[in-house]
Amino acid sequence: MMFEGNIRVRFAPSPTGPLHIGGVRTALYNYLFARKYGGKLLLRIEDTDTHRFVQGAEEYIVESFKWLGINFDEGVNVGGDKGPYHQSERKEIYKKYVRLLLGKGKAYIAFDTPEELSEKRKKFANFQYDASTRECMRNSLSLPKEEAEALIAGGQQYVVRFKIEPNVEIHVHDMIRGEVTVNSSVLDDKVLYKSSDQLPTYHLANIVDDHLMEISHVIRGEEWLPSAPLHVLLYQAFGWEDSMPVFAHLPLLLKPEGSGKLSKRDGDRLGFPVFPLEWHDPKTGESYSGYREAGYLPEAILNFLALQGWNPGNDQELLSMDELVPLFDLSHCSKSGAKYDYKKCLWFNHQYIQQKSDEDIAECFMPVLMAHAINVPLKKVVTVIGMMKGRINLLNELWENCKFFFVPPTDYDKKTVKKRWKEDSSVRMTELMSVLLGIDNFSIEGQDAAVMGWIEKMGYQTGDIMNAFRLAIVGEGKGPHMFDITSVLGKEETLRRLERAVEILK
Ligand code: GLU
Repeated sequence: MMFEGNIRVRFAPSPTGPLHIGGVRTALYNYLFARKYGGKLLLRIEDTDTHRFVQGAEEYIVESFKWLGINFDEGVNVGGDKGPYHQSERKEIYKKYVRLLLGKGKAYIAFDTPEELSEKRKKFANFQYDASTRECMRNSLSLPKEEAEALIAGGQQYVVRFKIEPNVEIHVHDMIRGEVTVNSSVLDDKVLYKSSDQLPTYHLANIVDDHLMEISHVIRGEEWLPSAPLHVLLYQAFGWEDSMPVFAHLPLLLKPEGSGKLSKRDGDRLGFPVFPLEWHDPKTGESYSGYREAGYLPEAILNFLALQGWNPGNDQELLSMDELVPLFDLSHCSKSGAKYDYKKCLWFNHQYIQQKSDEDIAECFMPVLMAHAINVPLKKVVTVIGMMKGRINLLNELWENCKFFFVPPTDYDKKTVKKRWKEDSSVRMTELMSVLLGIDNFSIEGQDAAVMGWIEKMGYQTGDIMNAFRLAIVGEGKGPHMFDITSVLGKEETLRRLERAVEILK
């Protein structure tokens, strides 16, 4: 499908905590859509709910996208001519539009206190503030004009409610779900504005901003689908039908097993992050693990997320951002939820680690070595990475897998010792030391020729020699080819390790 006019989409998070991975996917789909159609992607911070505001959440969101490489064309931290992009800085704008709706008779002022409302809800099981009940409530429609004015003049707090006409068919055009029809009678007269903090609620601010920021497509999570009919009505109430955005409600991310929405608890239980970066909640002290800190590459996360709820129409899996952009198409999004395949994410990460150069991975590994007080030239680290990266799924696995290149074993794995260190091993390893000592060219080939020649000449079993050799050098029975390891370690270090093993294990 081709679109006419300017494509403008937005990601509009509320800074109420760390950004869930589902939010990252929403932003990614908006990004791909904007890139594909040469449009613009905005970042708008929806911070009008002061009770749910969390310190540091916005910074977290911005840093997450920076790490992931999702860039915004307009918005907070970027600028643009439709700002400000923090809703908390747009108070006066919303007030103007609240007055406009009141003036048109599309909204009204309600004085009911929270106590009065909960009283009603207690009394009537399915109480809904709407056309059928608003006459019995305390609002500018039910009270005499003078009384309402006097209440406001007297400083009484109020809210502004949307006056929803009953029994009207509302049509929502959704690119993923087709046309969704809802009867207006199921909706309640939503609160649009509160005098207590002089702030709009999500619904009003969201619609006013989408309109003023000329948003052409609203691509967001399925959890917002129930709000869409109300949003259509608001567009109509303002008389903005002609510029109403097209909706696309993305499928939910579901638990890897069982049913229901993916949650932090699933991640904690099964051992995968549900957030892009680590986060420590300033209020509860709770910790949230992040993909970055767990050793994932941003490219892998993006490729993986792109396929959680969308497919390119074939079975291609490894897709770079440049490949994804032309392929991306909202009509290939599934309607039903996507089971979060965290194991597949590890597979993607493994693939992307292999695609990266040894130099790039080595650069990521240098700080880890530093943290262990290991100071080695980058060149040596690059060689180690070349040998080892095929064995890891996460960057964080590098240390455990590679540390024997940098620190000699402090103890020897008991099981391996029992199996591999024979009665004559100490003697053989002492002999091996003198063979190695005599090698001038301590390269892989140089060692191979000398050691294999010696083994053959002496009639030893290659396995017996090499297994004991490995135990002495690595401390256990794992690792790449022995001469690959020892050529990195060098002659001196190799001899030191052999000597120590003989001393301890004899
Ligand atoms: N502020 C809402 C959120 O936190 C935005 C929903 C929308 O995109 O309309 O997700």
